[in-house]
Amino acid sequence: MDQSDLQKFLVENDFVYLPVSSEEKESLKDKLLRDRNFTEAKFESISYFKTYFTEIAQLVALKKIFLLKGIAYFPETDIIYCIVDRLRTQISIHLQWINKMFSVIAKDDHIKFLLQNISPFIPKEYQLYSIDDINLENIDEVANNHYPLCMKTIHLALRNDHHLKYDSKMQYGIFLKCTGLSYENAMQFWKNEFTQSMSLDLYQRKYSYLFKHQYGMVGGRIQYRPFTCENIQKYSPSPGQYHGCPFKHWDKENLIQKLQCDGLQTNDINYIKELIDKGRYQNACTRYFCVNYQVFRDDVIQSPNQYTYEGLCIDRHMDNVLSLICGNLDKDFS
Ligand code: SF4
Repeated sequence: MDQSDLQKFLVENDFVYLPVSSEEKESLKDKLLRDRNFTEAKFESISYFKTYFTEIAQLVALKKIFLLKGIAYFPETDIIYCIVDRLRTQISIHLQWINKMFSVIAKDDHIKFLLQNISPFIPKEYQLYSIDDINLENIDEVANNHYPLCMKTIHLALRNDHHLKYDSKMQYGIFLKCTGLSYENAMQFWKNEFTQSMSLDLYQRKYSYLFKHQYGMVGGRIQYRPFTCENIQKYSPSPGQYHGCPFKHWDKENLIQKLQCDGLQTNDINYIKELIDKGRYQNACTRYFCVNYQVFRDDVIQSPNQYTYEGLCIDRHMDNVLSLICGNLDKDFS
């Protein structure tokens, strides 16, 4: 934009930035140039603006702004940050509003239908991949056969210790919710486990809140979406914690032992090792998936929920195919 377009844009969008006059700019030159590597010529050629420091909180936080009695001075080259800051704040306010309204609106069957059909436009890593029939009876079987290594590890730790630390509870709790475990089943599941290592009273006072929160029933009523592999890989679990991504966080020897126990061939293990050395953890996990399900895929797993959902689909599809073949064979032989 040229200067007049920029001015028009600022006025139309209620940005209260006043141009700094050339006299004022010159009088503040030393201060304005501090922490900036503008050449003399560049300083002369660009315009400066001023506003209340509260209007550009993000820029002020970066400590690159000259402040005088609550007024912030900044060059036109920084306006983009101010606009992004404003946009981010507005999006955040509106998302919070949508989030609050979502649980109310989704109760209407007509709207629920529309919302459900929006899912094809959601990027793969954020899709819910909900399974209809996961419940307390089959959860161990689903975990054993269809969980990726990250979730299987937490599930087994929970079954053994009847307790988990915060990050593991978040990683696994959100996964279960997004996999389709009902609220009632989830509450029962966590209660059954935790009350084996503590009293019911302690569980209800200290622990049950988080699980209700994960389902958007208390507090900010957040509707969580699945954690992506990328999110999970940002964690850095300490010893004794079970969250995180085994392909990234586990000691390599332990991981190889696990892969051997799971029956992977040496060439697959070597290939997974190579991918890990290159930092391609999701590719390594995708290879593990392909070996387990005997399939080929040219995309990469983006979330544990996708892993479980697609694994189950393959399994069920194979069951259907097998029953179809067996049915036809029966017919041929009869
Ligand atoms: S790549 Fe993703 S799904 Fe696979 S183990 Fe890591 S976090 Fe889990």
